[in-house]
Amino acid sequence: MTASITLPWWQDLTPRQIGALAAAGGVAVLPLAAIEQHGEHLPLSTDLDIALGLLEATLPKLRAGLPVCVLPPVAVGLSLEHCAFAGTLSLSPETALATVVELGDSVARAGFRRLVLFNSHGGNKAVLDLAALKLRVAHHMLVVRANHFRFAPPPDALPADELRHGLHGGALETAMMLHLAPHKVRRAAIDDFASIGRDMAARGCVLGPEGEAGFAWMAQDLNPGGATGDARLADAALGARLVEHFGAALARVIEDAHDFALDSLGKRTGRAARQA
Ligand SMILES: [Zn+2]
Repeated sequence: MTASITLPWWQDLTPRQIGALAAAGGVAVLPLAAIEQHGEHLPLSTDLDIALGLLEATLPKLRAGLPVCVLPPVAVGLSLEHCAFAGTLSLSPETALATVVELGDSVARAGFRRLVLFNSHGGNKAVLDLAALKLRVAHHMLVVRANHFRFAPPPDALPADELRHGLHGGALETAMMLHLAPHKVRRAAIDDFASIGRDMAARGCVLGPEGEAGFAWMAQDLNPGGATGDARLADAALGARLVEHFGAALARVIEDAHDFALDSLGKRTGRAARQA
């Protein structure tokens, strides 16, 4: 799955090389994605393709010589909200949390003190929050929660309404897929996928699927076809621009993680704190 993507993979290294990278203050990046329905115009692999495509755009933008490696992606994530659609694979919340924590434990065991969790799927966000905190409690380690969909897009790339309500398979994801994996996009099925969130906002509701008072939703609650957003706004040029932009944003995150003063993390952690 990852063979065609050129990245500095963790799994390509030897124990001695891993040790040297850790000793150099290396940053380990763990890609987290999903295999889940994205309507009929995009493949199940959309979030994985986007995560790896963004990483591929990120690496050349890093400061030369910055020690970094990319862990094998966690391709399947927490996708319960898409389980009504055939093809969606999902871990349970407990398994998803344990997976990220146990991989983080392994990274810490190798001597790394800087871990960036890089996530491309909204449903994984709660897992990242909890896993990062558990890892911080257990280890004297910087654990970053980087969700690409939380990165600010280029200011004039898409209408604010689409950015707010095009949550799944809308213009943003469709554009990036038209750039990264055009052969996987079924263009005839591209449409404006109306969302209950857009309708509620138009009626002045405070409540909505996301935002300050969000309700728990399954994809079919937002749109019977499982996608939301106006995918007709997408084209490959926009996708290329978004990938460049988000890739640059992730490069800054990784550089900041490398430059972060670990001394500024309190030292009374884990067992040492409990015994004190
Ligand atoms: Zn997605």
